[in-house]
Amino acid sequence: MKQTDPAPHGIYGIEKWGKDLIVVMDNGEIGLKNPMRPDAPTISLPGIIEDLCDRGVQLPMVLRITSYLENEIRQINESFRAAIKRVGYTGSYRGVFPIKVNQQAQVVDRIVEYGMPFSHGLEAGSKPELVIALTNRLAKDALIVCNGVKDAKFIELAIKSRKLGFNTVIVLESPREADTVIKVAKRLGENPMLGVRVKLTNQISGNWAESSGDRSTFGMNTDQLMATVDKLRDAGLLHCLVLQHSHLGSQVPDVNDVRRSAIEACRYFTELVAEGVPLTHLDLGGGLGVDYTGEKRADENSINYTVSEYCDNIVETVTYELDEAGVAHPTLVTESGRAVVATSSMLVFNVLEATLYDAPSAPGAEPDDHHLVRDLVAINDYMTANRLQECWNDATFYRNELRALFRRGYIGLRQMARAERIYLHLVGQMKALAAREDVSDIDERLEKSADIYHCNFSLFQSLPDVWAIDQLHPLVPLQRLNEAPDRRAMLADITCDSDGKVDKFILEDGVSPSLPVHSLREDEPYYMGCFFVGAYQETLGDLHNLFGDTNVVTIDLRADGGFDLLHEQEGDTIAQVLSYVEYDPADCLDAFRKIVDGAISNGSLKSSDRKAMMAAFRDNINGYTYYE
Ligand code: PLP
Repeated sequence: MKQTDPAPHGIYGIEKWGKDLIVVMDNGEIGLKNPMRPDAPTISLPGIIEDLCDRGVQLPMVLRITSYLENEIRQINESFRAAIKRVGYTGSYRGVFPIKVNQQAQVVDRIVEYGMPFSHGLEAGSKPELVIALTNRLAKDALIVCNGVKDAKFIELAIKSRKLGFNTVIVLESPREADTVIKVAKRLGENPMLGVRVKLTNQISGNWAESSGDRSTFGMNTDQLMATVDKLRDAGLLHCLVLQHSHLGSQVPDVNDVRRSAIEACRYFTELVAEGVPLTHLDLGGGLGVDYTGEKRADENSINYTVSEYCDNIVETVTYELDEAGVAHPTLVTESGRAVVATSSMLVFNVLEATLYDAPSAPGAEPDDHHLVRDLVAINDYMTANRLQECWNDATFYRNELRALFRRGYIGLRQMARAERIYLHLVGQMKALAAREDVSDIDERLEKSADIYHCNFSLFQSLPDVWAIDQLHPLVPLQRLNEAPDRRAMLADITCDSDGKVDKFILEDGVSPSLPVHSLREDEPYYMGCFFVGAYQETLGDLHNLFGDTNVVTIDLRADGGFDLLHEQEGDTIAQVLSYVEYDPADCLDAFRKIVDGAISNGSLKSSDRKAMMAAFRDNINGYTYYE
C-alpha cells in the first residue's frame, strides 16, 4: 500500500490541543467549528479576520466566540448533573463564575445568559465585582458567592441584596471578618447567608501550588474556624452559616489532588455539622484546568482528566465520604473560571517583518582576508551530520575571534560584514542539515538560532502569563498550513523590551524554542493566532510601552458557516492610554501647539506647515496604540 506523506501541519499538533473546535481546513487555513451546531460548516479564521478588517476593525484583536462559552457552561453543568444521577447523589449542583477571571461585560453577560437554565451564579472577590454581580438578573436559585477581604460597606450591600431576591453568600475569611459581619447584621436587623473558608492542608502540584496548603494566604486554620463558629453561636447567628468553602488553586494538574482535597473538605464538613452548624452547601472553589498542550498529563500546562472525570470524581468522593459519616448530601458548588472562559477567546495578530537568522548565499574568501575568514569558509568542506556539533563549535569560535579582532581594529568593517554573512550562511546550512538528518543532540544555541518574526501585539498587554509564569498557549500560523513550513522563528512583540517575546511553542512532539513558519511573501499578510486566552489574560494585562487594550470582537458562528458580529469593543486610543498615566490629552495637544508656535516664531517652521503638523499629532493621539 502506498504510504501517504503526513500533512505538513501535523507538526503543530492542532489535532491534539484543538479540542475539535480549532481545525485545519482543506485549503490550509485554520477553521473554527461550532460545538453548538456540529453540522454547521467550518468557518475560516483568516476569512473572519479579513471580513472584520474590511469592516474597519484593525489587528491585533481578541476574538470571542460565544458558542465556545455556551459549550463550556453547558458541559460543566451537564457533567455534574450526569454524575449526580449516576452516583445517586441527593443534592444538586450550582456553579458560580468567578468574575475576576474575565470581568468584561460581554463575557459576564453571556455567562449569565447561558447559565440561566442551570442556575449558574457568580462569584465576587471584591466590591466592584459584587457591584457587577448585582446588576445581573440571575435565576431564582442561583448563588452569588462573596470571597476575599470584605469591609463593612461590602458586607452591608451583600446583606441588603437578599431583599432583592439574590442568594448572596458572605464567605468569612477570618474571625475578624466574622466580627464585622455580626456588627453589620445586628445594625441592619437582618439574617445574612454566611459561608466559611477553610484552609485545606493538602497541597496541589503545578503553577498554583502556593494557593493551597498551610501557607496559602486565604482561609482559616482549624483554630480560627472554631473561634468563628463560637462567635457566630454567641451572636445568635450560627443558623446563618450554610456554606463551607475551600479553593485548591487554579489549573489543578492532577485529578487525584481534586479527590484528596474533596476528602479533606468533607472531613471539615462532617465535623462542622456535628458541631451543630446547619451547612447546606459544599463549595470546592476553582481549579478545573485547561489542557493547553493537549498532552493529557499532570503538568503545569496540561491536565490528566476531562471535565466529566473532574465532575465524576467530586460527586463520587463527596457521596462516599458523607455517606460514611451519615451526613445529608449538600448542594455542591464549584467556582470554575479558567475552564469556562479560556477557550472562548483567541488573540489574532499579523507579522510585521522578519529578521532572518541565516543567509541564503555567502561570499567566498578573498586573497587578503584574515586566515580566520578562510577557516570559516572551509567549514563547508567537512559539514556532515555526525560532525555537526564540531562545525557549530568551529564556526562560533572563528566568528567570535573575528569580532574580537574587529573590536581591536585589526580587521575592517567590510571584512567583518563578509565574515558575519558567511557565518549566518553556515548556520542556515547547519539548521537545514539538522532538520533533514533529524540530529537532535546538538548545542541548544543552534536550535535556538531561529529567525525573529516581529509581530503586532504586546506580550505584556495580551499574554501576561506567558511573560510572568511561563504559561504556554497554542500559537500557530493561520494560513498556508498545507505548505511545509520552511523556516523556524521565535516571535517578538512590538514593545521595546527584550522580554517581549514568545520562545516556547507547543508542537506535536513537545515544547520547542522555535515555531515552524513560512517565508513571508511580499504584500501578503501572515496571520498568527494564539488560543485559549480568555482566562485572566485580558484582566492582568498591563500598559508596558503604553500599548493599550486591543480591539475585541464578539462573534456568533452561524449555522450556514457565516458569522454575526455581536459586539465590537474598540481598543484604547493613544489619548486614552495617556489619560491612564496622568496626562490630559487636551493639555498634551495644547503643549504641542505651543511648541509648534514657538518653532514658527524662531523661524524653524513655516506658518503654512502648522496645520499639517497639528493634524499629524491629532491623528496619532486619536489613533490605535498598535501598528496600523
Ligand atoms: N475561586 C477562588 C476563590 C479563586 O481564588 C479562584 C482563582 O484563583 C477561582 C475560584 C477560579 O479558579 P479557576 O480559574 O482555576 O477555576
